[in-house]
Amino acid sequence: METAYMKRNHLADEMNDAMAGQEVILNGWVHQLRDLGGVIFALLRDHSGMMQVVFNETISAESRKLADELRFEYCIAVRGIVALRPAGQENLEMKTGKLELKVNKLEILNPCDVLPISVSQDGGERKELRMKYRYLELRRPEISNKIIMRHQLLIFIRNFLSERGFCEIETPLLAKSTPEGARDFLVPSRVQPGYFYALPQSPQQFKQLLMVAGFPKYFQIARCLRDEDLRADRQLEHTQLDMEMSFVDRDDVLGLIETLYSAIWKEFLDYDVSTPLPRIPYKKAIEQYGIDKPDLRFGMKIINLGEIFADTGIKFLKSVLDKGGNILALRFAEQPLSRSEIDAVEEFAKEQGAFGLAHFINDNGKLKSPMAKHMSEDETSKILDMLKPGDIMFVLAHEGKAGYEIMGQTRIMLAKKYDLIDKSKYALLWVTDFPLVQWSDAESKVVSEHHPFTMPIESEWNEFLERNNGEPNPDDKSVFELSSQAYDLVINGQEMGSGSIRINRPDLQRQIFKLLGLTDDQIDSQFGHILDAFSFGAPPHGGAAMGIDRTLIQITGDEAITDVIPFPKTLKGVDPMMDSPSPVSNEQLKELHIKLDLPE
Ligand code: ASP
Repeated sequence: METAYMKRNHLADEMNDAMAGQEVILNGWVHQLRDLGGVIFALLRDHSGMMQVVFNETISAESRKLADELRFEYCIAVRGIVALRPAGQENLEMKTGKLELKVNKLEILNPCDVLPISVSQDGGERKELRMKYRYLELRRPEISNKIIMRHQLLIFIRNFLSERGFCEIETPLLAKSTPEGARDFLVPSRVQPGYFYALPQSPQQFKQLLMVAGFPKYFQIARCLRDEDLRADRQLEHTQLDMEMSFVDRDDVLGLIETLYSAIWKEFLDYDVSTPLPRIPYKKAIEQYGIDKPDLRFGMKIINLGEIFADTGIKFLKSVLDKGGNILALRFAEQPLSRSEIDAVEEFAKEQGAFGLAHFINDNGKLKSPMAKHMSEDETSKILDMLKPGDIMFVLAHEGKAGYEIMGQTRIMLAKKYDLIDKSKYALLWVTDFPLVQWSDAESKVVSEHHPFTMPIESEWNEFLERNNGEPNPDDKSVFELSSQAYDLVINGQEMGSGSIRINRPDLQRQIFKLLGLTDDQIDSQFGHILDAFSFGAPPHGGAAMGIDRTLIQITGDEAITDVIPFPKTLKGVDPMMDSPSPVSNEQLKELHIKLDLPE
């Protein structure tokens, strides 16, 4: 078939010295443009790279004349002879920088209006404007390369898992509300007025049902939709590597995922991750790092000074200890801090909820501290033993988990401020044995820490039931001490994904729903299908889901997941390019039997 335009027979990136003298046709966009004394130089960009093209009166008067019309981002076709650039005019930073194309024919395939955002370089435009013209921003190689990297990552994962017997299976988007913890996006059913589908927050129940169906290893690059408030690491829709395996135990699942992640790190970052990864139980993570996603690229673990001050005469410490609270410390051994720097650390801790933050300094073997004169000799010498001259120890007396969290945040702040993080390192680890449930202030009830399908640590669960005469009693405060078989993969202090060994027995699953406050009727109407499925010989199974967007920003070094999503939404959930969400017509609403009741 005849092509209506001069179609390319080469890509910019293919041009090499040996081609000098050859006639080629290139297609692409005008990336840069210079008029030097009547000769026009343009950089032509296609998806592969760039090539300098020259419009010279003596080569083709007609093309030279047409070249006057060129502006940035015109879409063009050029035919010309590949030539070596004159000596001194090479650009060694460019792959084709020793060459140019002497154009004998130019065809303007499509002109380009005045650009709202710069393509040839980062024009520093507002994020929203760049999102409105995202397709132009994506013309910039440094932006589109991330999307190509995304593709490569997905292919790598697909191959890795297929080679290990995993089967990729699609699950419905029009699904049923799932208890993942976020708000559902609802889709009204036209055929069944008043009924709604929910877009899946994750394929959790479907993948478990696939295990009941007998597929031993499932995965899916799955879109998950959650109607939550957005943050830098959160979008309304995100992509997960969703996985599930049957006839496995926790070590099988963790082993498979860490092998995958170490292979990804080798392939994409040429970085050796040694496996098995460290595994830190949740409780220990909180006690040592004050957070369930510790950044292990630096030390400075939280120290518990409870024993040293067990019989202290310092009243406020004693009273915190008597109430079951803790005396926690961070040893900062990097550099001496000035008075105002110490004050700034205290100020930060207060912003996190501390009443105050004390400190000890080893001042050449003498203890310097506002508390020093109230301390016993034994306390003083034990503290001094922990500090080298010049070291500072920040001390917090606080009750409950909040104390650990304050110290955890202070630890991170100190590491960032004083540059303690080794940026060349990747610290991958598992946090295991998460609590089974937590208290939700918003809902005023016990809710799952992970999700309700997570298997408890069975011995603990059985003891809990025994204590409560066989009833899953949410009012027994020891419920918060129960652990589950849930785990998170953490990289450099970011949660990459989570999963668990699942419940596969209908009786246990029903007990957990009851613990979460559901009545038998609610359980049957909302979860009858999965309880049924578990009663037909459901195999032991477990799995996890890893965030693809979060994994990618670890690889690209970006801060926000919007950088690696082709068409992201703003923090208000708006797509400025397509202008969505948007109102719909009355006819559409009528068909769906929906009447709007909008706030004034
Ligand atoms: N569906 C869970 C989630 O999205 C992950 C899992 O348990 O596999 O967090």
